[in-house]
Amino acid sequence: GWIGLGKMGEPMARHLLNAGHAVTVWNRTASKADRLVAGGAVLAASPAAARGEFVFVMLADDAALRSALLGPDGAVAAMTPGTVLIECSTVSPALSATLAEACAARGVGYLRAPVSGSVAFAEGGKLTVLASGPADVYAAALPLLQSFSARQVHVGEACEARVMKLSLNMMVGLTAAMMAEALALGEKNGLARDIMLDVIGASAVASPLVGYKLASLRAHDYTPAFEARMMAKDFDLALGLAHDSGVPLPMVAQVREGFSAMMAQGDGDADFFKYAELTARLAGLRGQ
Ligand code: NAP
Repeated sequence: GWIGLGKMGEPMARHLLNAGHAVTVWNRTASKADRLVAGGAVLAASPAAARGEFVFVMLADDAALRSALLGPDGAVAAMTPGTVLIECSTVSPALSATLAEACAARGVGYLRAPVSGSVAFAEGGKLTVLASGPADVYAAALPLLQSFSARQVHVGEACEARVMKLSLNMMVGLTAAMMAEALALGEKNGLARDIMLDVIGASAVASPLVGYKLASLRAHDYTPAFEARMMAKDFDLALGLAHDSGVPLPMVAQVREGFSAMMAQGDGDADFFKYAELTARLAGLRGQ
């Protein structure tokens, strides 16, 4: 079963199908399943009907997950004991714990399996899966995970994968703000943006992420690989976890407000790296 065929879910499910597995898919907007159905997938009429020995989930956020998976008509209530739910979305540790309880009550195995990597990585089957759950459930799921990912890491037996994913995405989001401030400082002081991007791209701070974003920053092309509103969601999840566990995250809190400003100015659906334009405007470099 596969629930959720967004930018990430569709290519991930496609890899599973191409690897020869029978896949039954559900998506709120059914037309997004067209390509998969043409390739042999079966379209389910509800999340509960997207059944199988393993049921994968790749939905936007906590609200989507709650509505598709929990409650009397949700997918978990329809799962057969002994089957496994593999949850790949980036969602809160708290909802994940609720799901773990719901699965345990039905005798269903549960693997947290959020992924690292962008849409291009999902298309290419090159994602990294961060998994946590019982070792036997992970071992059983591994061949399926390998069909859509290049790397799989079992990081613990319980909720650890959620924490790992939020820690990583915090750093990804902060990178956008770091680049934005550097570019604004340079441009305001007479440096050519292209020269700055060349130098940054060849410097010690040129992470792979910075490398992927150079071309779009050069072209001011913020076609979303990951929307600002989705990054805001991940920052909220990280801050919630940090509040619950007594960890101060002042940089994350501050940059979260930048994502709020982007959303308020109509850029919530743009790529999160459009943060660079927000900072440029604040520096008086672009028209309001
Ligand atoms: P997306 O393209 O926006 O897709 C979101 C999916 O959730 C779609 O299937 C959408 O259905 C569904 N959905 C949203 N609200 C719903 C609701 N209330 N009820 C039922 N279904 C609902 O997002 P994505 O980029 O694939 O991301 C999916 C997850 O992966 C997110 O948790 C994200 O944080 C995480 N992630 C994303 C990336 C990335 O680079 N994009 C990388 C790693 C992890 P419709 O098609 O009907 O709208």
